[in-house]
Amino acid sequence: MNVPFNDLKLQYADIRGEIDAALRQVVAEQQFIGGEEVEAFEREFAAYSDAPVCVACASGTDALMLALAALGVGPGDDVVVPAMTFVATAEAVAHVGARPVFADVEDDRGTLDAAALERSLTPATRAAIVVHLYGQIADMEPIAALCRRRGLWLIEDAAQAHGATWQGRPAGAWGECAAYSFFPGKNLGAYGDAGALVGRNSEALRRAALLRDHGRRQKYLHDLVGYNARCDALQAAILRVKLRHLPRWTERRRAIADHYRQALTETERVRLPRVPAGSAPVWHLFTLRSPQRDALRAHLERAGIATGIHYPHAVHQQPAFAARGRTPSLPVAERIAQTTLSLPLFPELREAQMAHVVETVNSWSKA
Ligand SMILES: *Cc1c(COP(=O)(O)O)cnc(C)c1O
Repeated sequence: MNVPFNDLKLQYADIRGEIDAALRQVVAEQQFIGGEEVEAFEREFAAYSDAPVCVACASGTDALMLALAALGVGPGDDVVVPAMTFVATAEAVAHVGARPVFADVEDDRGTLDAAALERSLTPATRAAIVVHLYGQIADMEPIAALCRRRGLWLIEDAAQAHGATWQGRPAGAWGECAAYSFFPGKNLGAYGDAGALVGRNSEALRRAALLRDHGRRQKYLHDLVGYNARCDALQAAILRVKLRHLPRWTERRRAIADHYRQALTETERVRLPRVPAGSAPVWHLFTLRSPQRDALRAHLERAGIATGIHYPHAVHQQPAFAARGRTPSLPVAERIAQTTLSLPLFPELREAQMAHVVETVNSWSKA
């Protein structure tokens, strides 16, 4: 039996009528950049995120860049970034001219560790980005308290955490704003690139809205040097359709994760993901840890099961960033890079496929 890591064709087959109608509507209107579809999506995603404002843009990376630029972060500034994340978190910092300073993560969630954040502060630190890795919100109270005490901007990278909550609150509730990605494989995915900012810092979000569209206040009047980082109407129309289904897909992800957590056996060869009390993850990824990760991955591949590694290198170990100067050892992030393995988890996964995954992992972990 083959078990793919994800299969977006199954999702499209499920909602094809709605998607095709939405696409035909946009093409009939010929309003492709900004406009009513984008504004409607912004209202709906703000409501979904329990946030007062949403600014849709061209990608999750752009959302992070716009947030930093809108907060005035730039050359001469340091921004703390967790070492275990997708590279875009650090790229956004570099692209506004600031310096990413990598901090270690906590072992359980793989998210930014408040003590490590404090240790990595410099006189030039202006901001911190916390990443809600794998669909689980980070331990936000100590991080938010530290940022308040030190007068630092706090930005949440929620690219993997659509709908996740920590103590009942979603991403965007702690920092200035939260950046979302709608890359196709994310929990809410467009049919191309798209992203958004949501949050409570309405002044920053107003600036971000100007910056994404060439800093323009009105046609041919530009208040700021901005970017072309707009969300297009086709993506917004697709996202509006898919947002209506997201609660049901999230429920399904949670049911699959619950089944895995209850059916998989933890041994010294396999560790299951940890979920602290008060956390309601949305399981963008279901990540095991194993000291013999590559052997487990090969075992699963022989059984027809596709897996992923998120991520095989901590960001400070990437050639692009290691070349930028001093690289302290960040042992937790480095260990996660060597031991993490993501199992197939997507809403359309069938019961028989789940059972095959469980059986194949258990036969190896108990051997
Ligand atoms: C996907 C992702 C991004 C980047 O989003 P894009 O839409 O691909 O630009 C940033 N941070 C994290 C943690 C991500 O998973």
